[in-house]
Amino acid sequence: MTRFPHRHLLGIEGLSAGEISLVLDLADSYVEQSRSRERKSQLLDGRTVVNLFFENSTRTLTSFELAAKRLGADVINMAVQSSSVKKGETLIDTAMTLNAMHLDALVVRHAESGAVKLLSDKVNCAVLNAGDGHHEHPTQALLDALAIRRRLGRLEGLVVAICGDILHSRVARSNIHLLNAMGAHVRVVAPPTLLPSAIERLGVEVHHTMKSGLKDADIVMMLRLQSERMSGQYVPSIREYFYFFGLDYEKLAVAKPNALIMHPGPMNRGVEIDSEVADDFKRSMILDQVELGVAVRMAVLDLLTRPAREGRAA
Ligand code: ASP
Repeated sequence: MTRFPHRHLLGIEGLSAGEISLVLDLADSYVEQSRSRERKSQLLDGRTVVNLFFENSTRTLTSFELAAKRLGADVINMAVQSSSVKKGETLIDTAMTLNAMHLDALVVRHAESGAVKLLSDKVNCAVLNAGDGHHEHPTQALLDALAIRRRLGRLEGLVVAICGDILHSRVARSNIHLLNAMGAHVRVVAPPTLLPSAIERLGVEVHHTMKSGLKDADIVMMLRLQSERMSGQYVPSIREYFYFFGLDYEKLAVAKPNALIMHPGPMNRGVEIDSEVADDFKRSMILDQVELGVAVRMAVLDLLTRPAREGRAA
């Protein structure tokens, strides 16, 4: 497969294994470019990429900005605080306004699930979802997959335990879709209060203890307690949560001897993960994830702008 047959990247759900591999293979070449002295190319010279972020972000925004700049694009970051949405403009009006400026790609983060899809229906350029509510965060799952593939050489057949606040996590949803598409075995590990009802319908094994959930796992992916999305009390106390669900060496001992640790960030040390484990340079892939994020975003920007660059319909 050499062509990505979608106009936008709104989620992982619905992507085939071949399409996912296409992004990952291209991202591999961008890792090499990013590590070389000639980091910057002219591929998107004269093209405009807008990062429209209605929610705060440090790493994702920086990563998208860097990715577009490494491809030579003109990049504009628009934060909601300074935008006219605060003055009462609707999402659609914002989209129409941006559309009139002839963008080539629009990267959007929004607190509402589905908002990015809504925007994508109204603009003429490629739209990349940088996280919409609890729904999806596709580039996060792609960079996670790239990190695993580069370390272990494959995704198929691996046991991946995704642990923590699954209920509020778009990262978990995108990862579940991607890992299932690639033939991995996905487990979710959380107290019942932090799991969406009927989550097993997404094709995951459900565990309520770290001991059973982490048993013989190849990958342990920790998630943050997303308190900004919670209305009410989901865990009795942070201390108790860490005791039962925080990743430390004792809980990790039941996983495969060299099981790798992941976290999408931002990390809450001492809440979902112990500092020593997070900083274990042999087993923690947390910084690899950050590095590979730029390469994955370069690959997606490249693929989604190809039809326009080559003068064909998406
Ligand atoms: N950075 C990720 C997200 O935007 C994970 C998190 O915030 O916990 O969903």
